[in-house]
Amino acid sequence: MLKLYFKTNLLIRILLGLILGCIFGLIFHGNKTLINFIDPFGVVFIRLLKMLIVPIIGCSLIIGTSSIHPSSLGRVGLKSLAFYFLTSLCAVTIGLICGNLSGVGDGLKLNSTKAITLVDAKSNSFSEILLNIVPTNPFQAIGNAQILPIIFFCVCFGIALSFIKDSQNEEIRKSAEIVYKFFDGCANIMYLIVKWIMEYAPIGVFALLFKVFAQNESKVLIDLLGVVFVLYFGFLLQIILVYALLCALIKINPIEFFKRIYPVMLTAFVTRSSNGTLPLSMKTAEEHLGVSKGIYSFVLPVGATINMNGTALYQGVAALFITNACGISLNIDQYFTIILTSILAAVGTAGIPGAGVMMLLLTLESIGVDVKGNVAIAYGMILGIDAILDMGRTAMNVGGDMVACFWIAKSEKEVDNKKWENKE
Ligand code: ASP
Repeated sequence: MLKLYFKTNLLIRILLGLILGCIFGLIFHGNKTLINFIDPFGVVFIRLLKMLIVPIIGCSLIIGTSSIHPSSLGRVGLKSLAFYFLTSLCAVTIGLICGNLSGVGDGLKLNSTKAITLVDAKSNSFSEILLNIVPTNPFQAIGNAQILPIIFFCVCFGIALSFIKDSQNEEIRKSAEIVYKFFDGCANIMYLIVKWIMEYAPIGVFALLFKVFAQNESKVLIDLLGVVFVLYFGFLLQIILVYALLCALIKINPIEFFKRIYPVMLTAFVTRSSNGTLPLSMKTAEEHLGVSKGIYSFVLPVGATINMNGTALYQGVAALFITNACGISLNIDQYFTIILTSILAAVGTAGIPGAGVMMLLLTLESIGVDVKGNVAIAYGMILGIDAILDMGRTAMNVGGDMVACFWIAKSEKEVDNKKWENKE
């Protein structure tokens, strides 16, 4: 039986956990003894995931930022960073608007079962929020799991490491390489632990969903379908309002552009990995878009690591789904924090399947929503359908990288115009 469990594809197992959790929850509706027995299996799953937030974000951010070569932090580098930032900002804003207007998750009313969500809705002024991003003691920030200060510190650390790695002094350079390897090793260890935890995910998702259905009604499924719909609608808006507009600004027909890059987006959709799609992205940039090697060999790998428009948009929608479901109303500061954290969380998201849903924990924590009780249940629901959400967000992540790459190449006059003759 155990052999069969580990042999079956993980996605199928998680989906089965979701479906069986729903079915058994409905069958044993209201059975308090069973609910109390099964509940800890879900709680332990969430605790395991939370255990990894700080080490994962720390390691991947340090590795991500330090892998940008200082020389690349020149004009093209700055242009790319500005481009990534602005498109991610648009993405998360679209996500929040869609989530807000649709009232995604509103119907769940998880708070009516047992309101045990913890919201630390301290109202800080705008300048206070910005000031609080700079930690006075990074170790204290790590100890208290204060996400934004941790991110700030890791980005500084990563950039400094990138400079030290490039030092003229051999000894310093060598020591920097050791530090880099250390964090790279730690990141890989964390990914392995995530992989192990994910083996347990089907049981965790089963337990979380069982509780939802044993306590609530079956209309939960409609809300889950709702979140899928809202998210994909947000993606469509990002394509039309942001990418198509950016194409139009450089006098490129957006339909022609997407016709050329759709195999890349499709590959990302099925593999759910920006990193895995990178070879095809580079090939397409060169052969179909006519981008010079100098540009795509920098913009695309960095983009696959730190530019995650789909993930940023998803953070907005998913965070609203969870807070709406738990009856938590957010103030303007918390919206602002979601925007900031989502952009930064997207930087720290590895280009591998399912990484974004881990970062969602970080976004929630940053707005003072503790992931336990009903929040954990709503998170479990999102996790249960993550494969479907991840497909779309990865396609968008890669699509965003391709737009960035082409746009920067065009502005640097590094596009082979022969590839576009008679087509613009
Ligand atoms: N799977 C995504 C990617 O590779 C990351 C995520 O889970 O959001 O781009």
